[in-house]
Amino acid sequence: MSNTLQTQLLIIGGGPGGYIAGIRAGQLGVKTIVVEGVNPGGTCLNIGCIPSKALIHAAEEFAKVTAYAAGTSPLGISVQAPSLDLAKTVAWKAGIVKKLTGGVSALLKKNGAQLIKGWATIVDGKTVEIAGAAEDGGTLRITCEHLLLATGSVPVELPFLPFGGKVISSTEALSPTSLPKQLIVVGGGYIGLELGTVYRKLGCEVTVVEAQERILPAYDAELTKPVATHLEKSGVKLLTGHSVLGLADNGQLRVRDKDGNEIALDADQILVAVGRRPKTDGFNLESLQLDLAGKAIKIDDQCKTSMRNVWAIGDVAGEPMLAHRAMAQGELVAEIVSGKKRHFVPAAIPAVCFTDPEIVVVGLSPDEARHRASRPRSRCSRSRPMAVRCRWNPPMASCASSRAAATTASSAGRPWACRSRNCRSPSCSRLRWAPRWKISPARSIRTRRWVRRCRKRRCVRWGMRCISEVVCRSEPR
Ligand SMILES: Cc1cc2nc3c(=O)[nH]c(=O)nc-3n(C[C@H](O)[C@H](O)[C@H](O)COP(=O)(O)OP(=O)(O)OC[C@H]3O[C@@H](n4cnc5c(N)ncnc54)[C@H](O)[C@@H]3O)c2cc1C
Repeated sequence: MSNTLQTQLLIIGGGPGGYIAGIRAGQLGVKTIVVEGVNPGGTCLNIGCIPSKALIHAAEEFAKVTAYAAGTSPLGISVQAPSLDLAKTVAWKAGIVKKLTGGVSALLKKNGAQLIKGWATIVDGKTVEIAGAAEDGGTLRITCEHLLLATGSVPVELPFLPFGGKVISSTEALSPTSLPKQLIVVGGGYIGLELGTVYRKLGCEVTVVEAQERILPAYDAELTKPVATHLEKSGVKLLTGHSVLGLADNGQLRVRDKDGNEIALDADQILVAVGRRPKTDGFNLESLQLDLAGKAIKIDDQCKTSMRNVWAIGDVAGEPMLAHRAMAQGELVAEIVSGKKRHFVPAAIPAVCFTDPEIVVVGLSPDEARHRASRPRSRCSRSRPMAVRCRWNPPMASCASSRAAATTASSAGRPWACRSRNCRSPSCSRLRWAPRWKISPARSIRTRRWVRRCRKRRCVRWGMRCISEVVCRSEPR
């Protein structure tokens, strides 16, 4: 080993989550190193939010002038048909990106955080290696007190439509060398529609293929209607309820329509934008054996993973995959590491879709609110502490939680479990059995189910489910 460094906080990934954590930690006097494999700024600054919005702006300007040239301006403005120097447009976009990523490096330096370029590989929860980053070109080993995972996400690849050739991801779509005559966008989410709109405004024939019944399935249905109308009016073909099957030998895209018939679509380029997945592979993360929530790293409301002093923020910690959420979490972890008390409990996270017209959402959609209102709810011990009481000591001389419960618990004598962690009652047999309450939506009556709870003192699992999950999903009443 040619070189070794020691730090308090080591951040893998210099995206919005990682660089904000680095800057904040530096401000708070925490010795910090940020390791970034490509460029500081991550997906957002390099191949996401910023370049896409730059191209959206350029495309809008081009479309405006094209409309003037067509003589349709109500203002009476007319010009000659415009032309586009694509290389210059892309260079302008790259200039903006360079300026912003340079700003991130400068801010990290100014606040005392060290930025190291290279791909980090995890050795253990406190050690990371970076090949080629040592002064002599060898492997640099960094040991840390706290490890923050901010490795972001990567585009989802369809197994039957792998990236390569005419099949591209958003990354390639943001740096075109030439414009396709016919572009098919697979996926009617916000990334596909934002980029599809750009290409349409620049003069391409665009078809959007979406498996669900409407575009922007993650957004409120009412809000997406004007977007669909405007897209169709501008000449974008929307094929909702169509699923992609793969590429035919002649290069056409095979698609199954709503009635189950197979059709073939011509395409010079196919942009696959069916979502992004957390980047959890390629840097030996599996060696830490962290708990996962689906494909993302499981975290609590302080961004702690299942391993002590290992934290995760941003896209790698799951939905919603948004830059400002990653930033908020980055700041939070930096502050916790510096000794402050913080929790990530957002009331609502806003999201903007830069289509035409733009959509801004915040909080629950009407569908989500309806779904939550009708779903079976578990009792929340935090919001209704009286739902718990001791099992074996009804007089409850020393157990405060059971005393509180005694006033309202309707089924005295049943084997309730005390949920108080600090219960000192000698006869309290907490953690043996506990009731799980449910409201049946169909019949609107309370039904009770008994679930065996793990007997380990600190374990919070109830059979197959975890009490924290039950509590978190519960709604205060
Ligand atoms: C086309 C597009 C448009 C978008 N538009 C918006 C928008 O308008 N608004 C919005 O809020 N969000 C938008 N997003 C999403 C936003 O970009 C992400 O939510 C955000 O970048 C997540 O930040 P992050 O820090 O978690 O990860 P990232 O930004 O992905 O950063 C992770 C960084 O970690 C680095 N890394 C990974 N593994 C290693 C390793 N082993 N060693 C060293 N470095 C490593 C990567 O190189 C990367 O730079 C968009 C995304 C895309 C693709």
